Amino acid sequence: MSSASYDVAIIGGGPAGSTAATLLARAGRRVLVLERDKFPRFHIGESLLPFSMKAFSRLGLHEKFARAGFMEKFGGEMFGACSDQGVKFYFEDGFGSQTDRSYQVTRAEFDKVLLDHAAESGAEVREETSVERVVFSADGAVLHICGKDAAPEPIGARYVIDASGRNSLLGNHFKLKKNYTHLQKVSIFAHYDGVARAIGRDGTLTRMVRGLDRWFWMIPLTAKRMSIGVVLDAAVYRQTGRSPEEFLASALAEQPLLAERIIDAERVSPVHVAADFSYRSTRLTGPRWLLAGDAAGFIDPVFSSGVFLAVLAGEQSADALNIVLDHPRKARRLFARYERTINKAMDVYLRFVNAWYTKEFIEVFLHPQDLFQIPPAVNAVLGGNIGTSFAIRWRMAVFYGLVRLQKYFPLCPRRTLLPPSTTAAVPLRETAEALL
Ligand SMILES: Cc1cc2nc3c(=O)[nH]c(=O)nc-3n(C[C@H](O)[C@H](O)[C@H](O)COP(=O)(O)OP(=O)(O)OC[C@H]3O[C@@H](n4cnc5c(N)ncnc54)[C@H](O)[C@@H]3O)c2cc1C
Repeated sequence: MSSASYDVAIIGGGPAGSTAATLLARAGRRVLVLERDKFPRFHIGESLLPFSMKAFSRLGLHEKFARAGFMEKFGGEMFGACSDQGVKFYFEDGFGSQTDRSYQVTRAEFDKVLLDHAAESGAEVREETSVERVVFSADGAVLHICGKDAAPEPIGARYVIDASGRNSLLGNHFKLKKNYTHLQKVSIFAHYDGVARAIGRDGTLTRMVRGLDRWFWMIPLTAKRMSIGVVLDAAVYRQTGRSPEEFLASALAEQPLLAERIIDAERVSPVHVAADFSYRSTRLTGPRWLLAGDAAGFIDPVFSSGVFLAVLAGEQSADALNIVLDHPRKARRLFARYERTINKAMDVYLRFVNAWYTKEFIEVFLHPQDLFQIPPAVNAVLGGNIGTSFAIRWRMAVFYGLVRLQKYFPLCPRRTLLPPSTTAAVPLRETAEALL
C-alpha cells in the first residue's frame, strides 16, 4: 500500500474525467480531479447519442439535465448538398433501440453539471489547476501542478486517469499519439440565434448536409440557439486564404439547405476553429495509468461519437480501477480488457468515418431500401450501438459491401453533391470529373 494521498488522480474535468470521478467517488475512493479551466467554459461536442442514456441513468444525471433544460433530441436528418430530398432517421427505429431520445447540449453548461455532480458525489475537484508533469514510480505517481494558488505542492496518487482531452498529456509525454494522415480536417463553427427550424420532434434533429468536399452540421441547442459548423480538408481551407469568419459565412451562403434557414439569424459567438483532431494513441494503459476519452483518441466529429466514447471510457476506466485498487494483481488483465473495449469502439467509428468520406456512402445512405433491416442497423450504429451483436455486424458488413459496389455500379442514383447554383456555374466537364 502506498502513502499516496489519493487513490486516483484524474487529469481533466470533461465528460470522461467527471464520469470516472463520480463512479470512483461513489465507490468510496479518494479521487482528485484536476481541471485547467474554470467551468463553465466553451467546448465543442454538442450532440449526444442515445447509447449514452444508460450511463447517464447510472450516474443519476437525468434529473439534473431536466433542471438544466437540455433539449431532447430524437434523431437526425441527412441531405446531399445537391438536392432537398434528405433522409430522416429516428432513434426509436434503430435495431435493438434502447431509447428513442438523447440530448443536444450547450457544452459549457453540460460539462459544469457533470463536474459539479462529481464533486457532489464525493470527488475533490480543483479547477484552474493544470497538470504540468507526471512522474511514475512502481507504486504510484506524483503530479506536478500549476494552479491559482501560489506554488502548489506536488500530489501523490496510486493511479492516474488522463482525461485531458485533445491535449493528451500522457499520450504526448509517452509519444503515443499518432495522427490519421488521411483525416487531416479542419472544422469552423459558431452559435447562431434565430435559425429557422421545423416544429415539434423534427425541430430537435441534427441536420447534416454533405457537399462534395465538405459537410455541415446544424445542431439545435435551445429553442433559440443553433450550433452550425463545417468540416473540410485542412489543405482545401488553407488554399482559400480566407479568415474563419469569411469562410464560414460564404460556405453557408453557398448551401441553399442551410442558407434558407439562416436568413434572419444572427451569429452570437466568436467563430471557432478546430484542427488536428483525428488521432489515436498506440497504447491506452500503463502500469499506473489509463487514457480516457479524447486523450485516448478521436476519429472525426461526423457521427457525434465523442462524448459517447468519453463517457464509455470514463465508466470502463472507473470500473477497472475500482477492482484493481483492491486487487492490484488484476491490473494487467483488467487494463488489457479496458484497452480492447475502447479500441474496438473506436474501430467501429473509424470504419464508419472512412466510408463517410466516400461519395458512395451518402448515395447509398440517401437511398434507403427496406432490405434485411439494413437501415435500422445503420441507424443503431449512428445511435452509439457499437455493434457487438452478430445481428448488427452482418448487416453493417452488407451495408459497407453496398457502398463499395456503388463505386463501380450505380445501385443507387449518383449525386453531384454540389448545391444547385454551383452545379449551374461549374462547367459540365468539371462536374463529370467530380463524379468519377
Ligand atoms: C469540430 C468538432 C465537433 C464535435 N462534435 C461533437 C458532437 O456533436 N458530439 C459529440 O459527442 N462529440 C463531438 N465532438 C467531440 C467532443 O468534443 C469530444 O470527444 C469530447 O469533448 C471528449 O471529452 P473528454 O472528456 O475526453 O475531453 P474534453 O471534453 O476535451 O475535456 C478535457 C478537459 O481536460 C482539461 N485539461 C486539458 N489539459 C489539462 C491539464 N494539463 N491539466 C488539467 N486539465 C487539463 C481541459 O481543460 C478539458 O476541460 C466534436 C469534436 C470536434 C473537434
